[in-house]
Amino acid sequence: MADPGLPPFMTASAGGPPSISDGSFAQSMGAFGALLKLQQNISERFPKVKVPWSGTREFLKASTIEAIRATSLYRFHMEMFREIGLGNMQLISYAPMHYIFAVPNNPVCNFYPALNNQKVCVATTDALHRFFREDLELECSVEEIECIKNGNSACKFKVDLQPISAYQVMLDEYDKMILSGVRPPVDDNELKDRVRALTVYKLLENGRLSEIGTAYMQFASTIKVDEKKFDPPWKLKEELSSIAATHNTFGGAFGAMAKTVQSEQNVGVVPPAPVVSEETKKLQEEAKKTDSFAELLAKMKKNQ
Ligand SMILES: [Zn+2]
Repeated sequence: MADPGLPPFMTASAGGPPSISDGSFAQSMGAFGALLKLQQNISERFPKVKVPWSGTREFLKASTIEAIRATSLYRFHMEMFREIGLGNMQLISYAPMHYIFAVPNNPVCNFYPALNNQKVCVATTDALHRFFREDLELECSVEEIECIKNGNSACKFKVDLQPISAYQVMLDEYDKMILSGVRPPVDDNELKDRVRALTVYKLLENGRLSEIGTAYMQFASTIKVDEKKFDPPWKLKEELSSIAATHNTFGGAFGAMAKTVQSEQNVGVVPPAPVVSEETKKLQEEAKKTDSFAELLAKMKKNQ
């Protein structure tokens, strides 16, 4: 990945500094200042927003775009990226372990005035990578697949999770009991939901442990999982909203105010959900034949 800390004219234009006379230098310096500010926001915010695995689990187990958009982690992620200056990001395509986020009118494009006809939004790619790796503990690769600067209607970023790390965060003790053939102490509905999620992730097949499930369970038994439990960074905000929504002690005004704050959060962050797009279909097809599961299996077999 290119170094996101360098302004574009230092890395991209060969043959000395740009000319001052045509104004592009001043423009580049202004953009550079904005980019520095963005990097500073990221450096300040990201270390403070560690997400507990329970929060990430809810996100990973959601298996439709609508369900993903309804998770606390998703709302928190989109809001934080918007506040930082990364624009109005939204999930537009999904397949297990693969997510495509789009940013219409991406402000980050303006940080690279000297670059044209190419994908330029390294700052967003880097931010997504850091958020997933550092805050969610999910290993992944991130790629900008379309860019406004390259003539596309929105900038689009594809996040591919590394299967082993996704399994490690996603599976809790009850899931592992199911994979071991033991019924956890949950009701039938929850059991069904868990089996569905494990099937979506190919750990179960027709209700039985799949080859991948077998390989993963053997692998998992050899590593010590150290899950730290703590409150998610969105807890306080959600609690305040729910108290305000259910208690009328302070009168209608307070409740109405809280509702306003809440709906303000939703407006602009979560646009109307699109029907399953061509893109999602394509991504799901791709995920079906993706070799990451095969790679995982190969790795597991080597380790036996
Ligand atoms: Zn872009």
